[in-house]
Amino acid sequence: MAETPRIVLLPGDGIGPEIVAAARRLLEALGEFEFDERLMGGCSIDAHGVALTDEVLDACRRSDAVLLGAVGGPKWDTTDPDAPRPEQGLLGLRKGMGLYANLRPVRPSPALVGASPLREERIAGTDLLVVRELTGGIYFGDSGREGDTAHDTCEYSAGEIERIARAGFEAARRRAEGGRHKGRVTSVDKANVLETSRLWREIVTGLAGDYPDVELDHLLVDNAAMQLVSRPADFDVIVTENLFGDILSDESAMLTGSLGMLPSASLGGAGAPGLFEPVHGSAPDIAGQGVANPLATFLSAALMLRHGLDRPAEAVRIEAAVDAVLERGLRTPDLAGDGDRPVGTEEMTEAVLAEL
Ligand code: NAD
Repeated sequence: MAETPRIVLLPGDGIGPEIVAAARRLLEALGEFEFDERLMGGCSIDAHGVALTDEVLDACRRSDAVLLGAVGGPKWDTTDPDAPRPEQGLLGLRKGMGLYANLRPVRPSPALVGASPLREERIAGTDLLVVRELTGGIYFGDSGREGDTAHDTCEYSAGEIERIARAGFEAARRRAEGGRHKGRVTSVDKANVLETSRLWREIVTGLAGDYPDVELDHLLVDNAAMQLVSRPADFDVIVTENLFGDILSDESAMLTGSLGMLPSASLGGAGAPGLFEPVHGSAPDIAGQGVANPLATFLSAALMLRHGLDRPAEAVRIEAAVDAVLERGLRTPDLAGDGDRPVGTEEMTEAVLAEL
């Protein structure tokens, strides 16, 4: 990686430009970065007729990391199957950048545990990461219909399992470096029923020797779904296949109760750039009003520093600054409760900058 990391910014549509501009200010306050801002999504359809141009994809591939706002909006909603759609840009990026691991951290800020649907004593201390395989399994296997019967096939190769398991072990190791985490991987499968799961467990167990500093345990997916709501604070990194990960990452996202707070990352092979973005969409209903919550994008920038640029100390600084402003009672309208005086994107950004 170059000494000054090169970051492609893809603000996208709706509130995307507001929250990405705020995150850029945060990064500029932390250190030296080279930014390359490009069009992707609806804005690129307006300018070039496609959601992702070859030129932008190429810039992303050559970067050290990509930070994305969000794409889409009513302007580009269409039922014409031949019309370009903003989401095609996201799919094109995932494919073109070879992203196969999706990382979703769930860490309710101590000041926001009251927003969780779980009781406070149950959610307190939760700080977990779901690592989901993105390119294999039942979503990509052979499927079809014959008469009144349908089938979907789940297939995994040893190589596909190994690379996602390594992504999980390495994420656990990087998190432990920050000093806040246990360094434990929980591999989730259905090895009592599925052959793909038995291969999964075999491969994951075989890799554990390469990561003696990381603890490994296994859970069946039905049990994992229960444990996530009964003892979420006991998890560190959960690594699982595509379908199970789809369900468990949404289940764990709900633990925080606030969409405007959730970051995510998608990673490709070793040394390749990752894609970092908030989980929420482009919120066209509030775009341009200066009230968007920038915190999920700030936390995405923290993920980028930890998992994309190998700068864990700066990631911890951002996360601590976000906790501190929430502790002081600052709330954007989406987080504000009765009696809170809501602040806009600008005031929230200034407050986080001051805490850095
Ligand atoms: P959304 O996440 O954009 O909005 C849902 C609700 O949450 C809205 O009321 C919105 O105002 C609010 N919200 C979301 N993020 C917020 C933030 N940072 N601060 C304050 N409030 C926030 O989901 P939606 O309304 O279903 O979708 C809107 C558009 O976004 C659609 O075009 C959809 O396709 C697109 N979308 C894009 C992505 C992405 O780019 N990755 C993800 C999901 C949806």
